[in-house]
Amino acid sequence: MARIKFENVTKQFGETTALHNVSFEVGDGEFFVLLGPSGAGKTTTLKLLAGLYKPTGGDVYINNENVSVVPPYERNVAMTFENYALYPHLTVFENIASPLRARKRSQSEIEDRVMKVAKMLKIDPLLPRKPAEASGGQKQRIALARTMVREPDVYLLDEPLSHLDAKIRYELRQEFHRLEALMGVTTVYVTHDYVEALSLGNRILMLDEGEVQQIGKPYEIYTDPANIKVAKQVGQPDINIIECVTRNENGTISLMPKNDPTLRIEVSQEFQSIFKNNSYPEVVLGIRPQYIKAGENDTYQTFDSRVDVYQVLGSDGVLNIEIGDLKLVTLTTPEEYYKHDQALKVHFLKDRFYFFSPEDGKRIRLSK
Ligand code: ATP
Repeated sequence: MARIKFENVTKQFGETTALHNVSFEVGDGEFFVLLGPSGAGKTTTLKLLAGLYKPTGGDVYINNENVSVVPPYERNVAMTFENYALYPHLTVFENIASPLRARKRSQSEIEDRVMKVAKMLKIDPLLPRKPAEASGGQKQRIALARTMVREPDVYLLDEPLSHLDAKIRYELRQEFHRLEALMGVTTVYVTHDYVEALSLGNRILMLDEGEVQQIGKPYEIYTDPANIKVAKQVGQPDINIIECVTRNENGTISLMPKNDPTLRIEVSQEFQSIFKNNSYPEVVLGIRPQYIKAGENDTYQTFDSRVDVYQVLGSDGVLNIEIGDLKLVTLTTPEEYYKHDQALKVHFLKDRFYFFSPEDGKRIRLSK
């Protein structure tokens, strides 16, 4: 068990700044997810924790000990990599046993621990085989078993489900939940998949371009994004982002989309105060697809739209519409049917609007 702390950590590779002033803490036994797009600095963060990299600036702590210059073998952390790097000439048993053999553990201890972890991950029937005889999902479990066999203080898992198909990913996500409940070992888990992050994380750190964008519980990250990057990274289909100029008509603010100035989007009474004193001449409006609804509604402004594309994806219908020159994505139930070019009245649930600053993308919130 272990606590982790990053304090103003910067990591530079020549001219490239992979991490910039990153600070966060992970609690004992916490399942902490690093979420971010490619190149965000996720793997660099894990390697700093594993001791494979030294920070250019700032400090890394494990259990209050500054480990910034402590070599990997003196840290009780275990890391799995995206490419699971199994030894092809060794059996699955020997692959899993290899970290224990390197630490010169007794044969009986090795047998006990390999068996225990293989059973937990349901790969015990594979132990006599070679990795080539295992499926992709099984290989990923073997790599995971090799990480877990050591019983370290911290697991560092780098995209452990990335090469698997959707069904096995789903199954393994459930397994991670069971393992977490079983083991309670501090885990830092890297992914670019927001579903994985929301499903697994006790908390999520969203990284982008080497900077912390937000740290919070999954629900907070989804419902209360700190900026446009977080709002875009979390949710499928992507949140609708509309750049607008604000219009003040007799003290009431409405929004004029930049790419169709003939439209006016009403702002609810609740949000009017944000725009008092002309504080934001321009604003970026965000609305998630599920909050644009087909049909008229007495409490919401109605727009005339045109259907572009409609796809039914199992439990959801994804409907692309155009309101004038505004292209938007909405979510419907799959029972509906829409055809190309059909006229459709829609309304926005305007209490679900997010407003962002056009300058830095940060969320503009109501002052409490
Ligand atoms: P991915 O999801 O694609 O693995 P990531 O979020 O893990 O991305 P990192 O691998 O941490 O991102 O890389 C962050 C930045 O640092 C990138 O711009 C990358 O090119 C750079 N970088 C990482 N490792 C090195 C290195 N050893 N030498 C030079 N640049 C590096």
